[in-house]
Amino acid sequence: MSGAALRKRLLRLARRHRDLVERAAGAGPMVRGSLHRVETRCGKPTCRCARGRGLHRHLRLTWRARGRSATRRVPAPQEPAVAGLTRAWRAFRSMRRDLAALEAELRETLDRYAEALDIESRKRLGLGAGGAPTSADRMEPSEKPPRAGEDLV
Ligand SMILES: [Zn+2]
Repeated sequence: MSGAALRKRLLRLARRHRDLVERAAGAGPMVRGSLHRVETRCGKPTCRCARGRGLHRHLRLTWRARGRSATRRVPAPQEPAVAGLTRAWRAFRSMRRDLAALEAELRETLDRYAEALDIESRKRLGLGAGGAPTSADRMEPSEKPPRAGEDLV
């Protein structure tokens, strides 16, 4: 791909990157975790659940924090709201993964762009093909590269 084509691609990736970051910045409330319906025994010896006449059903929010799993009971009236908030969390994480993939593509394209500009500039100036030096490109002992800090004359 030519330098000009890669430049276009870079700018397109940069616009997509900006769009994604703006969407992320515009995120609303969200809650980490997932909702599960569970059936439990409450532990009271006199309860119906202890006598095998039906367990208690409720909703449970489960999430991981600092490497540990945590849960909290969600009251039934809050179910729709919490379900929406956990969906918002998952959507955000998905967007975050898209952003990471885009950033990897951006870095790779930057490297290819630099390569293309190097090749095109060398061609224009007759400086050889670039890349790994061939035997024809080996330096004469008299033309050692300047050390860092030394000026080129
Ligand atoms: Zn019970």
